[in-house]
Amino acid sequence: MAKADLPQRREIRTAIPGPKSTELMARRRVAVPNGVGGTMPVFAERASGGVVLDVDGNSLIDLGSGIAVLTVGSSADAVVAAVTDQVERFTHTCFQVTPYESYVSLAERLNHLVPGDVERRTFFVNSGAEALENAVKIARHATGRQTVVVFDHAFHGRTLLTMSMTAKAMPYKSGFGPFAPELFRAPYSYPYRCPVGAPPAECGPACAEAAIRAMDRQVGAHRIAALVAEPVLGEGGVVVPGEGFLLMLAEYCKDNGIVFVADEVQAGFARTGKWFASEHWGLVPDIVTTAKGLGGGLPIGGVTARADLVDKVHAGGLGTTFGGNPLSTAAALAAIEEIEEKNLLQRATDIGQTFERRLRPLADDVAAVGDVRVIGGMAAVEFVEDRSSKTPDPDAASRVLAKCHEEGVIILRAGTYDNVVRILPPLVISDDLLNEGLEVLEKAIRAL
Ligand SMILES: *Cc1c(COP(=O)(O)O)cnc(C)c1O
Repeated sequence: MAKADLPQRREIRTAIPGPKSTELMARRRVAVPNGVGGTMPVFAERASGGVVLDVDGNSLIDLGSGIAVLTVGSSADAVVAAVTDQVERFTHTCFQVTPYESYVSLAERLNHLVPGDVERRTFFVNSGAEALENAVKIARHATGRQTVVVFDHAFHGRTLLTMSMTAKAMPYKSGFGPFAPELFRAPYSYPYRCPVGAPPAECGPACAEAAIRAMDRQVGAHRIAALVAEPVLGEGGVVVPGEGFLLMLAEYCKDNGIVFVADEVQAGFARTGKWFASEHWGLVPDIVTTAKGLGGGLPIGGVTARADLVDKVHAGGLGTTFGGNPLSTAAALAAIEEIEEKNLLQRATDIGQTFERRLRPLADDVAAVGDVRVIGGMAAVEFVEDRSSKTPDPDAASRVLAKCHEEGVIILRAGTYDNVVRILPPLVISDDLLNEGLEVLEKAIRAL
C-alpha cells in the first residue's frame, strides 16, 4: 500500500490492543525494560496525516503526534522525498569532520525564524535534552557564573542535568539522584493554580515578582548564569503563563546579565500557531532550544544562540558525532517547507478555535473539568475532584484516556498531578478526523 492510500479515517477492526499487538507486547515485556513507559499497548504499522495504522489493521486517530513531533504529519511527502534523496547521496560524514550544506541552510533558517533582530548562530544535536545541556554550557561559559534557574512543573529531559532541571519526581527523578548541582527552582505562573494565590488575571506579574524575589534573596542575580523557561509548559500540562510573567523575567535577566533560555522543544516550531511560542508575548530569548517538531519526524535538536554569547566558546567545545545528521537536516528543511506551503501556522490557530468550540463548554458542563487550556494546536483538559478545592483527579484523567484509547484515539497524559489530558494533533490532520477524535474525547469526559 502506497502512503497516499492510507485512508484518513478511524476504523476499529479488533479489540484494542488486537492479537498481533498483544503478542508484540509480550515480546516487548521480555526484551525491553519496564522503565521505558508506554501510553498504548498498540504497535504501529504505518502512519500518515492524522492516522496511525496498527499491526492488527486498526486505523487510529492521532491526537498525540508522537509527543508533539509530527507537526507536518508522519512521512510527509516533502520529508520522504528529501530523506530519500539524501540517504542515497550519503548518510553521515559528521558535520565536524566534513560538513554539508543542509546543516548550514537549516542553521540559516533557524537564525531568521527565531524572534528578535539579533545576530544568531545555530548548531544541532540529537535531542531536546542535549539542546538544553548545551544551552546551559553556553550560558555558563559566556557569563562565568554557575547557577541555573528553572521552574516548577518544568520538563527539560532525562539526562543527568536535564532530569535535575525537571521538576517532577515521579517518574522522572525518583531513585536517580544525586542530581546536578547549582540549580534553583522558582515558581511558574499557573493561572488556574496560582502558586502565590493571585487571581488568574494577576498571576503573571505576581509570580514573576515572587520568582525575582526568590532569586534575589536566595541566589543573588550576580551568580545566575541562565534562567531556563518553557514559554508554555508541555509535560507540565499545557500551562500558558499569565500575561507579563515571561517579559518581566526577561527584563530581570537583561538588567542582571542573565542568559534567558526559552525551551521551545515542545511549544515551538508552529505548534502554537507561531514559529515560536515566545512570539505570543513578544519575548526575545537569548538562546532558544528546539527538537520535537523540528525534524519532521526525524531526530534532531537545535540550539539557536545570540552570536555574541556563543562565539565566546572555543572551537571543539560544542558538538556531537551524530548532531545535525544529514537525514535529519534534510528532513527539517523539508518540514519548514511543508509548514510554509501548507500554511500550518494558520492551521494551528484554526485547530485552536476548534478546540475552543468543542472543549470550552466542558468546563461549564462537567464538574470534573477544572480547566480547559488552548494555545493553537496544543490543548489540555485538567480534571479535579471538585471545583472549589481544585483537588487534582488523576483517576478521572485515567478513565478518559482509557476510553479514548479503547475507541482508537491516541491521546496523552500530562501535568504534575497526572490529572491532565493533553491534545497535540498533527497540524495536517483533516477537520473531519479532528472533530471525530474530539467527539470521542468529549463523550469520554461527559461520561465521567
Ligand atoms: C520533550 C522535551 C524535552 C526533552 O526532549 P528529548 O528529545 O526527549 O530529550 C525538553 N524540553 C521540553 C519542553 C520537552 O517537551
